[in-house]
Amino acid sequence: MNLPIFTTPSELGHYLQSHRSQAIGFVPTMGALHLGHQSLIDRARHENTLAIVSIFVNPLQFGPNEDLDRYPRQLEIDRVICETAGVDALFVPTPESMGIKDALTQVVPPPMMMSGLCGRTRAGHFQGVATIVAKLLNIVQPDRAYFGEKDAQQLAIIRKIVIDLNIPVDIVGCPTLRADSGLAHSSRNQYLSSTGRSQAAVIYRSLQKAQTLAKGGEIQSQSILTAVKIELATVPEFQLEYLELVDQHTLQSIETVEKIALIAIAGRIENTRLIDNIIVGG
Ligand code: AMP
Repeated sequence: MNLPIFTTPSELGHYLQSHRSQAIGFVPTMGALHLGHQSLIDRARHENTLAIVSIFVNPLQFGPNEDLDRYPRQLEIDRVICETAGVDALFVPTPESMGIKDALTQVVPPPMMMSGLCGRTRAGHFQGVATIVAKLLNIVQPDRAYFGEKDAQQLAIIRKIVIDLNIPVDIVGCPTLRADSGLAHSSRNQYLSSTGRSQAAVIYRSLQKAQTLAKGGEIQSQSILTAVKIELATVPEFQLEYLELVDQHTLQSIETVEKIALIAIAGRIENTRLIDNIIVGG
């Protein structure tokens, strides 16, 4: 059977009306689907009886000088990936049908969760994410929604808004899928040359160094972060934007690793912005 595609909330709502008795798993994406997305879809399928995927390149989460216009769009390929993966319905709303306009009501996560990490250079990004994720959760009303741990700040903020706004959904965090080199799969990897891709593997390599140090008993954040910087410096083409060791839930910097913490990196290779993170401690 052909995978049904809905482009407005009311069309999708109509379809879902006759499926409300089922356990609904939802995977929101911006498309250009890769193996990371597919792992979320597989999990949604296995833990639910109905799997819904959305593809929406959310204009609210791109800054004025970011890559909204050139963000990869490949709907036909994505449709085939979803159909092959056994997705039950695809939601591909237009900005108009999502009500994107100047006077849109916005969801504002706690400023302390947005001020560090990616929020430092991406003003408005997480407000844009939170607003659209809240709208999508209200439209789909899934039992479970699946998000990648690769976007750790996003995941922490979504967990927080779901609690604070009493949105009745289980947020499921899923491990980061990587290429053999360790580079995290990302839609933006399409921008990289093959040289760039192999250089970008330094990000995960440096995170693994940190994990090994922490496993060996090092708890001082400064020592762990210094080891990461030394490894990152082996690839001078990598331009570091931030490197932080933070509490996994509050996203606040910590001096010593007493419990599970997150080391997060953002930087550029060939002017493509890449992020990644790893869990340490605990
Ligand atoms: P995006 O299309 O980039 O907005 O991503 C959609 C969802 O897929 C988000 O929850 C991401 O965190 C997740 N995701 C992206 N890359 C990966 C990856 N390599 N492994 C697992 N999940 C991922």
